[in-house]
Amino acid sequence: MAKVLINDGIHPTGLKKLQDAGFEVSTDKIEQADLMAELPNYDAICVRSATKVRQELIDNCPNLKVVGRGGVGLDNIDVDYARSKNIHVVNTPAASSRSVAELVFAHLFSVSRSLYQANRQMPEDGDNNFKGLKKAYSKGFELEGKTLGVIGFGRIGQQTGRLALGVGMDVVASDPYVETATIDMGRFGEVNIQTSSMDQLLAESDVITLHIPFTGAPVLGKEEFAKMKDGVVLINAARGGTVDEDALLEALDNGKVAAAGLDVFINEPNPRQDLLQHPRVSLSPHIGASTNEAQEKIGIELADQLIDLLK
Ligand code: NAD
Repeated sequence: MAKVLINDGIHPTGLKKLQDAGFEVSTDKIEQADLMAELPNYDAICVRSATKVRQELIDNCPNLKVVGRGGVGLDNIDVDYARSKNIHVVNTPAASSRSVAELVFAHLFSVSRSLYQANRQMPEDGDNNFKGLKKAYSKGFELEGKTLGVIGFGRIGQQTGRLALGVGMDVVASDPYVETATIDMGRFGEVNIQTSSMDQLLAESDVITLHIPFTGAPVLGKEEFAKMKDGVVLINAARGGTVDEDALLEALDNGKVAAAGLDVFINEPNPRQDLLQHPRVSLSPHIGASTNEAQEKIGIELADQLIDLLK
């Protein structure tokens, strides 16, 4: 029976599926340096982002049939080389879309009622300045009727659009590779959204959210901020670097951007202090995909693919 090494962890549901399929599964972490000696004993390895599967390691494992990556990126695997050796490389790109979309709305709801600021100030000042804080945070806004601009209308962008429609927002999306997307609203039917130009999105949106990969240069910089509505809200749960952080800080300081919600940063895990300390930024430490449900979906998708390929 096939032997599978789970080197960066897997949700118990995924593990059980593999065991029920009869595979001999090890979840004992093998350090990178020891993989050269140990991995030749396995038919498959599952990793997250920690373990690297490089050409040298692949060359040393002639029996390896599958490399599974729980999550989206494949930067830690020499994918083309592995495939040239007839090794299957699989990942789980859709499993975390819902969780990331929900985090976007967590930031957005938080920003709309200044919850992130109130949560910072109530413990310090809530007992002797309750009325002052009440006044300070009484200028919230509703999401219903506002326009959400979604930059990048792939898996996560469309999930975010779906949530936006659910709370009564209008959705404008921009994506050079997607012309129309059909959003399944469950028992409420389907909604077709045709993508627009970036300029239209920048001009019309009350809230802008990014769902694109980082391709080496920011998609939102000084020029793009200038085209946005005054008082726009910006959410970034895509990748650090997709937004020019200097331009964002300037836009926050001059009021162009009323508030931002950020899950991702340039130079993680050491984001710049002036962004972290900014009073109008709602923060989270790159946790978009980090929910129990997403981890379970990742584990199940990975296990299903391994079972398909190894049986
Ligand atoms: P996806 O490939 O399904 O969609 C990305 C879309 O962006 C594609 O349709 C592509 O055509 C479009 N695109 C690329 N460049 C563009 C541009 N300049 N302008 C407009 N559209 C552009 O990917 P996805 O699964 O939706 O993931 C989107 C991003 O979310 C990725 O960068 C991923 O790394 C990130 N992500 C973040 C977290 C987190 O923890 N915060 C978790 C998972 C994924």
